[in-house]
Order: sequence, then C-alpha cells, then structure tokens
Amino acid sequence: MKPAPFAYAKARSLDHAIELLGGHEGRARVLAGGQSLIATLNMRLDAPSLLVDINGIAGLDSITCHDRQVAIGALTRHAAAERSDVIAAQVPLMAKAMPHIGHPAIRNRGTIGGSIAFADPAAELPACLVALDGEVDIAGPNGRRTVKAGDFFKDLFETALGPQDVLTTIRVPAARPAQRVGFAEFSRRHGDYAMIGLAASVTADDSGLTDVRLAYFGVGATPVRARRAEAALAAGSMDDAVAALREDLAPADDIQATGAVKKHLAGVLLKRVAAELKDWPS
Ligand SMILES: Cc1cc2nc3c(=O)[nH]c(=O)nc-3n(C[C@H](O)[C@H](O)[C@H](O)COP(=O)(O)OP(=O)(O)OC[C@H]3O[C@@H](n4cnc5c(N)ncnc54)[C@H](O)[C@@H]3O)c2cc1C
Repeated sequence: MKPAPFAYAKARSLDHAIELLGGHEGRARVLAGGQSLIATLNMRLDAPSLLVDINGIAGLDSITCHDRQVAIGALTRHAAAERSDVIAAQVPLMAKAMPHIGHPAIRNRGTIGGSIAFADPAAELPACLVALDGEVDIAGPNGRRTVKAGDFFKDLFETALGPQDVLTTIRVPAARPAQRVGFAEFSRRHGDYAMIGLAASVTADDSGLTDVRLAYFGVGATPVRARRAEAALAAGSMDDAVAALREDLAPADDIQATGAVKKHLAGVLLKRVAAELKDWPS
C-alpha cells in the first residue's frame, strides 16, 4: 500500500520543529529515522497531514558522559550507538542490546530517540531504559522537562510525549564498578522483534544482590518490571524468583506464542540473564 498524502517540512531548529508540530491540529508527526513511522504510514495505520523532519537539527546526535551520567542525543543512529566507546564502557546493557535491534540497514537509519518515542512493547531500548532507571529530556511548547523512564511509557505505543513534543536526549547513569547487567531475548529469527526479552541491572557484592531491576519486554503494553522476582533475587533465591514471575507477568496470547509459553520463557530468560549477574550455585 501507499501512504495517504501528507506534507513535508524540514525543521531548522528545535523551536522550529515545535512550531511546525503545532500547526496541524495534532495531525503532524516527527520524522526521525523513518524505520517505524514510514511503515505505519504505508500500512495506513496512521495518516498524518504533515511530517516534520528533525534530521537537520544540529546537536541532537552526540553521546557524552559527564558527572557519571551518559546523555545520548535523540538523533543518534542505532549503528553509532553500537560503535560508541562511551556506550561500550559506560552503558554495557545497551551495548548488549543493540545488535538485537532489527538488521544493520535498519540500525543505520533508526534512531535511539525514535525507538524510545515509538515505544513498541517488543522493543529492546525502552526496557533497557527502565532497567537502568534512565530518563528522557523533552522539548515542547511549554519549555523543557525531564521524565523518568518509569513514568514515560504509559500504555501501548503511548508515552508522556504530547503532540507538539520532541524527545531530545535520553539519560542513563554511567556504569558503577559493582553494577552487573544482563540481556537476553527470544525471537524467531535474529533481527526480528522479540517474542519476549529481558534487560536486567543489579548491584553485586560479597553480601549478594541489591538494586535489582528486571525489565521484561514483549509481555505487556509497556516494559514490565518483575518486582516479586527482583525481591526474590535480592533474597538470594533463583527458584523463588522464577516462581514469582507467574504473578509478576500476565502476557496475553499473541500471534507468536500463548501467554503460558511466554511465562515459561520468562523463567528461562531469567536463568540465562542471572548467570551474567552473579555466580549462582547450581
Ligand atoms: C524490518 C524491521 C525490523 C525492526 N526490528 C526492530 C527490533 O527488533 N527492535 C526494535 O526496537 N526496533 C526494530 N525496528 C524499528 C527500528 O528500531 C526503528 O528505527 C525505531 O523503532 C524507530 O526509530 P526511527 O528513528 O526510525 O523513528 P521513526 O520511524 O522516524 O519514528 C517512529 C515514531 O517515533 C516518533 N519520533 C521519532 N523520533 C522522535 C523524537 N525525537 N521526538 C518525538 N517523537 C519522535 C515519530 O513521530 C514516530 O511516531 C525494526 C524496523 C524494521 C523496519
């Protein structure tokens, strides 16, 4: 199918983008890498009247680390993040997740901001942002604001972004010496969206695990924290953690798997990921 007709405008600045987005009664959309947006237009799942191309806005594609915080510009391509020394050293969870996102051609164009803004429930980066307790900077008609990851993902493809907002930066704490991270997903073929996946971050020392954060994706409308399993891991019991997933997660049946299969896979993923977090007694 072809998309419904739309107008196109290239924003010169953030303020210009916000102004353009305000002129079409909520029917304007930000265009970043286009890897998800253009597909939804071609399938006529959306029919905006204007695309506001933000690719020409300077300064939105840097990756920096200051004061133990990593800031990733929204226009950073997946491929640039994949090759970034800062991400490799300071955000190892993202470094593990990046190769699972689509294929190289998609990662060459797709942006970090686009993945977070699109908020596909089966996408890797939203779950990483939640596992890392990151946050998102947003510029809109009423100025700038920062939203915690836990408050950003609202519902299915629904975020804290308003119709005139532009996501500018994602921020995550830089890696700590005692931090351990783990990532795993099941997909039918490498590069497909995941049937289910898990992004995890913990603090590990001689006394065990603290600050355990398990963010599952592909099991609900948004990334889902498995809070009972987190508590069980912190208490030192892998068996209890796997059992707790039955209460933590309520995945619906979908075209890939039944909810029951996904719950089973959640436990398998937890065991795989836990091996990256700590040496568990077998
Ligand atoms: C075949 C295929 C396989 C894929 N597999 C995966 C996968 O396994 N995992 C995965 O996570 N993704 C996958 N993707 C999606 C890919 O990662 C996209 O790049 C990403 O979801 C969107 O990024 P984008 O820059 O292309 O955004 P766009 O497509 O340009 O935009 C997506 C949405 O976000 C909005 N948006 C974009 N940037 C901003 C911003 N800065 N501020 C406000 N709103 C914004 C747009 O208005 C639009 O609604 C796949 C895509 C394809 C085509």
